[in-house]
Amino acid sequence: GATVGILGGGQLGRMMVLQGAPLGYRFITLDPAPDSPCGQVSRQITAAYDDVEAARRLAEQADVITYEFENVDAGVAALLAEQSYVPQGSHLLYTTQHRLREKRAIEAAGATVAPYAEVTSAAETLAAVQKFGTPCVLKTATGGYDGKGQFVIRTEEQAIQAYEELSAAGTELVVEQFIHFQCELSVIAARSTQGEITTFPVAENIHVDNILHLSIVPARVPEDVQRRAEQMAADIAESMNAVGLLAVELFCTADGQLYVNELAPRPHNSGHYTMEACATSQFEQHVRAICGLPLGSTALRTPVVMVNILGEHIPDVVERMVSTDAAAEQLNVVPKYHLYGKEEAKHKRKMGHINVLCHNIEDALAWINQTNIWRNK
Ligand code: ATP
Ligand code: MG
Ligand code: MG
Repeated sequence: GATVGILGGGQLGRMMVLQGAPLGYRFITLDPAPDSPCGQVSRQITAAYDDVEAARRLAEQADVITYEFENVDAGVAALLAEQSYVPQGSHLLYTTQHRLREKRAIEAAGATVAPYAEVTSAAETLAAVQKFGTPCVLKTATGGYDGKGQFVIRTEEQAIQAYEELSAAGTELVVEQFIHFQCELSVIAARSTQGEITTFPVAENIHVDNILHLSIVPARVPEDVQRRAEQMAADIAESMNAVGLLAVELFCTADGQLYVNELAPRPHNSGHYTMEACATSQFEQHVRAICGLPLGSTALRTPVVMVNILGEHIPDVVERMVSTDAAAEQLNVVPKYHLYGKEEAKHKRKMGHINVLCHNIEDALAWINQTNIWRNK
């Protein structure tokens, strides 16, 4: 079988390996951590992500190259694209690494984003805030994740403070109007090297402290909103000529308007539910898409709630895993555990997730509440 090289050895790479192996592929990863989540289940070259020599060795040993995080060094990506087969190309990365380029690409696909403006000074930030009204969100154009690199501006006075704080990072900045959404949704599209496109069922996402806490599927929004969200994701993937997965994060307002928040050209935390709940997981679909296989069915087999396990949840999760789960039996839910093999259970660190398979979303939510694992931590 062919060998897939993965830039990055985190949990996304690990699950790609675990779900891609049954198709007969071998995997090799590049990661600086000697015992990375992905390296535990595949071969690994241990080196920094921007180590050109190591990237070259990865390319030599792989037939196909992909990545599991989007801040891949542009130079390394370009070198790999020259030296070996990178079906996703480097343009998708180039676009999604920068919020302004990304927003323009979303608009070019016919989708809507929150009104935004690039700002290069405190005065421009204030002017944008005055134009859009408060609240607004100031974001760094590059490098942000889990809400890091953004500042919610609630009063005009905060505009200057926000600019001073974020401009220290030295990247471009963008002001966005705050969308008073009813809920957050996401759709994961996949586009293959053959141009075939599929979308996974819409997930409803609940964040705590800017980190994903729950993904609920089916999302509790009307059918027509779900169809429009899926179509939007497919249109964006098509318009961008994406290959592999493209995760689309959306805001949904009470009257059913959809705004695209951001994109990720890789497996997405809000797609982990697909592992047991869909006929094909997002990880298998990614491997299929980049390796030129026909895409798999994305049909939902069961309602599900995915809940993230962070460092602070680990002791309680381990205790629950080793004992009989009377609550699960009583509620008729099946919690499927996924741990990423990370040694240090640091506060807020993503350590794993549980897909709570259920007949009704309420039952899965009740199990999550009854376990007490996610209360007040
Ligand atoms: P991620 O970890 O998803 O990459 P990130 O740091 O890139 O996060 P965003 O997804 O842009 O950040 O924003 C984080 C969260 O902040 C969103 O999921 C949403 O809850 C809120 N948020 C961001 N922008 C807006 C906005 N314009 N209006 C309302 N809420 C927003
Ligand atoms: Mg982001
Ligand atoms: Mg986000």
